[in-house]
Amino acid sequence: MTEKSFQDKQFEDIEFNLKAINERIACAAEKSGRTRSDVRFMAVTKTVDVFRINKALECGIDLIGENKVQEYLLKKPDLHLENVQSHLIGHLQTNKVNKIVGEVDCIESVDSIKLANEISKQSLKKGIVTDILVEVNIAGEENKTGLPKEMLSDFLYEISELPAIKVQGLMTIPPFSQNNAQNRKFFSNMYNMYVDIRSKKIHNINMDILSMGMSGDYEDAILCGSNLVRIGSAVFGPRIY
Ligand SMILES: *Cc1c(COP(=O)(O)O)cnc(C)c1O
Repeated sequence: MTEKSFQDKQFEDIEFNLKAINERIACAAEKSGRTRSDVRFMAVTKTVDVFRINKALECGIDLIGENKVQEYLLKKPDLHLENVQSHLIGHLQTNKVNKIVGEVDCIESVDSIKLANEISKQSLKKGIVTDILVEVNIAGEENKTGLPKEMLSDFLYEISELPAIKVQGLMTIPPFSQNNAQNRKFFSNMYNMYVDIRSKKIHNINMDILSMGMSGDYEDAILCGSNLVRIGSAVFGPRIY
């Protein structure tokens, strides 16, 4: 009798999960009048070991998201990142900016002038321009990261002057909720802001990426206009901290 190793079983699960999620993304994209290729699928790899991340990459994942600078930099040398992009999606402290600039393709969690300034400064030093998304606290939750939505427009005009960052769009994490209707409202609010800002055509500001939707609500997010979903536990299973 052959018994599958625990690792084989985990790898099979990842392959199976990715297939299922891809189908659901395609279905939601079509329902929203788009196609599968209009929505990017990010595998969120925080707390996941390099073996399982590489398995997901082998299965065709071409975008990963990490929350912590230190954790990402530790894993990065062992990841098979050819033709793969990586984004930082977790809260970033200004004193860690110099470590991450140049190491990821985009920083999705920019929510203060101070942070935007520092990313621009460190990028300038390295002779690069860093793509960023502005994280919006769409539900106005206290003690939560993200820029208050009322400040978004002024914020964009202000950071559009910075020489070494390029805004590519918006990101949000809605409140934790079991109530899908509630979060659809926040997703729709985000989409409306995204379209509204795009129509303003602010100099040096692109509005091409709307990053919203996680394991529990990515189909809702896509139906409301998301074009980048960040999915962790539905790919790799529950996180063990
Ligand atoms: C952890 C995390 C995700 C993924 O969460 P899941 O519910 O596991 O899919 C997405 N976005 C951010 C910012 C995260 O921190």
